[in-house]
Amino acid sequence: MQCHEFRAKCERSMRLTPEAYAAWVGHMNACSECGEWYMAREVERWGGEVSGFPCVHVAYYATLRSADYRDAPSCPDCLVVREPDGSFVLPIRDGGRTAATIRFCPWCGTELKPEGNAPD
Ligand SMILES: [Zn+2]
Ligand SMILES: [Zn+2]
Repeated sequence: MQCHEFRAKCERSMRLTPEAYAAWVGHMNACSECGEWYMAREVERWGGEVSGFPCVHVAYYATLRSADYRDAPSCPDCLVVREPDGSFVLPIRDGGRTAATIRFCPWCGTELKPEGNAPD
């Protein structure tokens, strides 16, 4: 599958056959450009803005949540949570509110600087 096919199919992915869907997911996993393009598109669809985050991965995983959970830390699909101080944490699913602070994006290694820090 070519990038332009992937992006065109994105508009109507719900109507793909299982084979076409498998090819589509395969392209997303193999092509980081399309994977990131898709993530940015989803963040915007959810009403977020990639430019407000250090990178598209953190934007995607911090914005993603199931319709059933309005509160990010309690949503099982939400892998990254932005804390009120601008730092990013990985919630630890131990039934409480435990979380591990991350300083770099787990997907691309971009440094995650808390918002409001002076640029250096
Ligand atoms: Zn592609
Ligand atoms: Zn990243």
